[in-house]
Amino acid sequence: MDTFNHSRRLLVGAAATGVLGAAMAPAGAQQGSEGKPDQPPKDPTTAYPKPPFPKQQQPWPGLTSKMSPRPDHGETSYKGSGRLKGRKALITGGDSGIGRAAAIAYAREGADVAINYLPAEEPDAREVAELIRAEGRKAVTIPGDIKDEAFCKKLVADAVQQLGGLDILVNNAARQFSRDSILDISTEQFDETFKTNVYAMFWITKAAIPLMKPGSTIINTSSVNAYNPGENIIDYAATKGAIMIFTKGLAKQLAPKGIRVNAVAPGPFWTPLQVTGGQPADKLPKFGEDTPMKRPGQPAELAAVYVLLASNESSYATGQVYGAVGGNGGP
Ligand code: NAD
Ligand code: MG
Repeated sequence: MDTFNHSRRLLVGAAATGVLGAAMAPAGAQQGSEGKPDQPPKDPTTAYPKPPFPKQQQPWPGLTSKMSPRPDHGETSYKGSGRLKGRKALITGGDSGIGRAAAIAYAREGADVAINYLPAEEPDAREVAELIRAEGRKAVTIPGDIKDEAFCKKLVADAVQQLGGLDILVNNAARQFSRDSILDISTEQFDETFKTNVYAMFWITKAAIPLMKPGSTIINTSSVNAYNPGENIIDYAATKGAIMIFTKGLAKQLAPKGIRVNAVAPGPFWTPLQVTGGQPADKLPKFGEDTPMKRPGQPAELAAVYVLLASNESSYATGQVYGAVGGNGGP
């Protein structure tokens, strides 16, 4: 086919159907291309709740329904466009927070999704499963403690068996304890933080790689703390630094196999992790206020990053860390 003529036909066709006209319409027009409403720019400083927030604290691991304000995971806003059609994803910590936002977005992009979480988080997990099924996609819920190596192996095996494959792995679960002094960090806490955040990622990734085909992607959740550690969460920050550098090393190792490995580095996000001991209770009302954006992020604001890193569209990105930090620090 003659490319020029082909492009010309497309142009003529587009003009005839009004696509070009709409794309060139002056700012302020209400109707975008193909009759879809326009997407006016949204001021990020006022787009979501700002501090002060009500005083609150929940027993760990916490539930979304008990947070005030309730975090936004894109339940009513995320619109998919088939970018992950037919893909199979496993997301740890997929019940709440950032993992839930990724799970909803993946389903709306056409993926089947398995989520892991702790048994105490069953109500959150059920809500996510319902949202995934509402998109006509398969939802697999696999509760269990990822501090256990045997469970991590079983988690991957069960997810692969129930999904019928695995091509997106999101290592997202984590534990964060706020302690003002290193003298207050027990060996047990240090161990729990590293087991949950680093060892589990290692075990789950190791179990998944042999089952992943070229084109698969691994996405790890690191943090702004990998670059600019909070002085009250130094054990957690150390795990996030480890995740960041593990991501970069593994990316080099797996690139020849066609498997990409990237990380996301969020700044302060409004999730159960923060209201269950991740931050001191008296600091929560001002959570996120110290960022240039003057507010915390909402999980919904990260969904598109997880989608991009999973999709074929980011095929040259590996070993990268994508930040969304509200303007302070980060990659
Ligand atoms: P969240 O509490 O919603 O998610 C964390 C999840 O980890 C929990 O839902 C839980 O299911 C899971 N988890 C913890 N221990 C587990 C265990 N032993 N076994 C199985 N699952 C376990 O909070 P979130 O903030 O959405 O956290 C998601 C990721 O984002 C974490 O990696 C966190 O470090 C990272 N992060 C969060 C922030 C923030 O400000 N919220 C900032 C940077 C990075
Ligand atoms: Mg949770």
